[in-house]
Amino acid sequence: MGDREEMDFVLKKYFGYSGFRAYQKEVIQKVTEGRDCLVVMATGSGKSLCYQVPPLIVGKTAIVVSPLISLMQDQVMTLKQRGIRAGYLGSAQTDSTAQTKAENGYFHLLFLTPEKACLLPASFWLNLLKLGICLFAVDEAHCISEWGHDFRVEYKQLDKLRAILSDVPFVALTATATENVRVDIINSLKMKDPYVAIGSFDRKNIFYGVKHHNHSQSFLDELVQEISRLVANAGSTIIYCLTIKEIFKSLQKAGIKAGIYHGQMGSKAREESHRLFIRDELQVMVATIAFGMGIDKPNVRHVIHYGCPKSIEAYYQESGRCGRDGMASVCWLYYTGSDFAKAEFYCGESQSENHKRAIRESLMAGQRYCLLTTCRRKFLLDHFGEKLSTDNCGNCDNCLVSRRERDMSKESFLLMASIQSCGGNWGLKMPIDVLRGSRSKKIVDAQFDKLPLHGLGKSYSSNWWKALAHQLISHGYLMETVKDVYRTVSVSPKGKQHLSSAGPDHQSPLYLPLTDEMLD
Ligand code: ADP
Ligand code: ZN
Repeated sequence: MGDREEMDFVLKKYFGYSGFRAYQKEVIQKVTEGRDCLVVMATGSGKSLCYQVPPLIVGKTAIVVSPLISLMQDQVMTLKQRGIRAGYLGSAQTDSTAQTKAENGYFHLLFLTPEKACLLPASFWLNLLKLGICLFAVDEAHCISEWGHDFRVEYKQLDKLRAILSDVPFVALTATATENVRVDIINSLKMKDPYVAIGSFDRKNIFYGVKHHNHSQSFLDELVQEISRLVANAGSTIIYCLTIKEIFKSLQKAGIKAGIYHGQMGSKAREESHRLFIRDELQVMVATIAFGMGIDKPNVRHVIHYGCPKSIEAYYQESGRCGRDGMASVCWLYYTGSDFAKAEFYCGESQSENHKRAIRESLMAGQRYCLLTTCRRKFLLDHFGEKLSTDNCGNCDNCLVSRRERDMSKESFLLMASIQSCGGNWGLKMPIDVLRGSRSKKIVDAQFDKLPLHGLGKSYSSNWWKALAHQLISHGYLMETVKDVYRTVSVSPKGKQHLSSAGPDHQSPLYLPLTDEMLD
């Protein structure tokens, strides 16, 4: 059997998949040839197969370093169910059987925490090397870099193993890596001429938006209302914030099934919260950034950031936790001016000047993202060195506002006023004809040609006005009533409220998406 056929065979046999995804095949091939690889691909793109398949082809153990025991446990369990020999060793583990098994080459895949990897005696590695190690994978490899958003000191020490495992190919995998981080990973792990596979970071199904807030109670009420609306549409929501209590209480008061997750919770409570969220018993998780790696829930529909994130990398990762099933999902970020002054607070966590500088720069990038008036997706992708071929992604607030959405307060005012002036007992044709200045018999008979707004909407076609009316109906400003076979349109209480706060010359902004009919 040729190499490629064998790869396909293994993929089908153990994983049940009929084809490799972009980059998987190349990476697996390079690794089996003994080459170091750096794999930078978006969350959910299938990076794990890059280290899972080679041991099944060559019959030697693959070592995988991963930051969290819970992540390893999940992986080991799934792999075992697939008939793959997998195990893990953590630093707290006292049971020596797993280690003995590992040393005797029993496992296809052996997962280690970085601490454990550094603590294992040289004899362990030498014994295993005799039997063969097909690769040394470092998952979440951005943790190795001070430039990364999740720097972990233990990761730094992995380079010690390079000396012992000098002929073993190293595979570093991450979903976030700027140029700086990539270089850091390659240098820290002393990778030799690595094969670098970089996938697209564009998550097309995610909408990105940013709003300013003023920290007031009324804002919080609005936010809670917004979240009620979101959860009513099914799917789960994650809210990232620095202080959980305030929002959590407000959500509970509003009858929303919310849970919390933060670093100060005991591990039992955290696991329980996580479990309830995964099982859809919680609609909303209010969390700090501690709620992070390993959240592999396909139907998270919304990620809300209450406060500017620490960095673009962190934002990309956290926001990326929605829409893993490929369905349309929404990320909103709410910021307030004081968020940008938090750099020194974050710097307190660090000893190193380099790291402090990185923290400040990261936060500044976060600020730029908040204040952006151009395409947010383009900015995010740009941060990872990826070029978006257009200036308008059509799926972020700035792109929608500039092209697909417009302030239609004046037009909406006219249409609603015309509907009211005509008595609210007609379909759409009559009030639109009035706006367009028609002097049909019906209009003259009813003296609607004497209305002050008669003819004020001439510059738009009837179809344009109809399209606007449909937008106003779907946004709840107008309502349709069916009487016998006729449909009448009237101004809803929400619309009346809008009208009463406005006049012909002053309206509060009313942004509505422009439909195709309106663009013609
Ligand atoms: P990542 O580590 O990049 O976040 P995973 O390795 O967890 O992504 O894979 C994400 C999902 O895609 C998993 O459910 C995995 O089983 C699936 N997957 C990966 N590769 C393939 C493939 N070639 N064909 C079908 N599904 C795949
Ligand atoms: Zn955009």
